[in-house]
Amino acid sequence: MTAKALVDIPADLLPLILLPPLEVLPDARARGAECVWGGEPLSTATAIDLGERKTDGGHWFPRACRTCTRRAVLAARTSHPGMCEQCTDDATLCETRRALHVLALELRR
Ligand SMILES: [Zn+2]
Ligand SMILES: [Zn+2]
Repeated sequence: MTAKALVDIPADLLPLILLPPLEVLPDARARGAECVWGGEPLSTATAIDLGERKTDGGHWFPRACRTCTRRAVLAARTSHPGMCEQCTDDATLCETRRALHVLALELRR
């Protein structure tokens, strides 16, 4: 896969973006032909890569549409401070929280 997605999600943020469990997904979503969340058909021009995800005994490469990705990034930003020591201490200094915020803004365009 060499096609460049419109928005690149930084690798360290990918694990924070929660996906539906692979077992319940239709084949087209599991292989990245459709949005992993909403099932919208994707093209290389619109798909956002969600990186390589590991499962028991395998790996897959989910992709998603911009709208669903943005929703998932916002959810990650909302839930992040609850599991982050830096945010408990001083959220303004948290790089992760800021990176999620910037990513959500980028996806809005
Ligand atoms: Zn979608
Ligand atoms: Zn944080």
